[in-house]
Amino acid sequence: MTTPFKRLTLIGIGLIGSSIALAARRKELAEEIVIATRSEATLARAKELGLGDRYYLDAGEAVEGADLVILCVPVGACGAVAKWIAPSLAPGAILSDVGSVKEAVVKGVEPHVPEGVHFIPAHPIAGTEQSGPDAGFAELFDNRWCLLTPLEGSDPQAVARLRAFWEGLGSNIEEMDARRHDRVLAITSHLPHLIAFNLVGTAHDLETVTHSEVIKYSAGGFRDSTRLAASDPTMWRDVFLNNKEAVLEMLGRFTEELAALQRAVRWGDGDALYKAFERTRYIRRNIIEAGQETDVPDFGRHVKEPGE
Ligand code: NAP
Repeated sequence: MTTPFKRLTLIGIGLIGSSIALAARRKELAEEIVIATRSEATLARAKELGLGDRYYLDAGEAVEGADLVILCVPVGACGAVAKWIAPSLAPGAILSDVGSVKEAVVKGVEPHVPEGVHFIPAHPIAGTEQSGPDAGFAELFDNRWCLLTPLEGSDPQAVARLRAFWEGLGSNIEEMDARRHDRVLAITSHLPHLIAFNLVGTAHDLETVTHSEVIKYSAGGFRDSTRLAASDPTMWRDVFLNNKEAVLEMLGRFTEELAALQRAVRWGDGDALYKAFERTRYIRRNIIEAGQETDVPDFGRHVKEPGE
């Protein structure tokens, strides 16, 4: 059991912030939880839900005396928030984030971090297509990866404390550098979302022709894509604006592979199609064996309930 933080401040209390609050409470990882968000409506809702002990619209006031501060705002907002809170951060505090892109967050935040504050970026690979403080649940991070991307020269003790905190939230931890993180996530998360946004957008265009048939007969593949494509537009806009290079590289590779499949379909090359699909089938099996998914045949109908 790790020593709890005295004061955990969460800036931003949407899906990820509220899930951290609930999971930290569940395992008593912080003696006090302080919440800040920019809108009165979200703050009032967080209060109604009892997510924290104290609530602020002023992020600067909220971080005073905190020994762990986590930015849970869209990637594009991290730099501005860091600038705002920097003068109020306590010496020795750990400052972290949960952004889905890491190099851009480091670039935006690091210049503002005062001497004596430990900035250690992090990214929990866990989420749903929901957003806002009502969307959070304590089990979100259970058995999911959380990637830490410490900077060169990060204090090992501070890294170990943050690692223990995320383990307490339920996660498995891996460390990697920010650049590698962004390339890995470009292929495992960002590209699939881009494809889903595009697929569902294309179907929507068709739908005006075929009316409700796209929705009515939507098969598992399309239904799963609609889940990804329902993700928060602000969050995903920021991901693509801030991980441009890696996403474009993966998109280039993807379109080459797609062109090969297109050719196989056009020429009726069954062998090529079979080989391509056989190869990819193993990847799904590996994911299940790694415990990151179950093989229950729910065809995308299942919705995870809080407490499940
Ligand atoms: P969310 O549910 O939409 O909540 C966003 C929070 O950030 C809200 O408290 C919102 O405040 C605040 N916010 C929005 N724009 C802001 C701005 N310009 N300046 C300051 N605060 C702002 O988002 P989320 O899903 O929790 O995502 C938060 C972070 O987690 C993002 O960086 C995302 O990349 C990362 N992440 C998300 C997932 C996922 O699946 N959703 C998974 C892993 C990591 P108000 O409501 O008061 O406006």
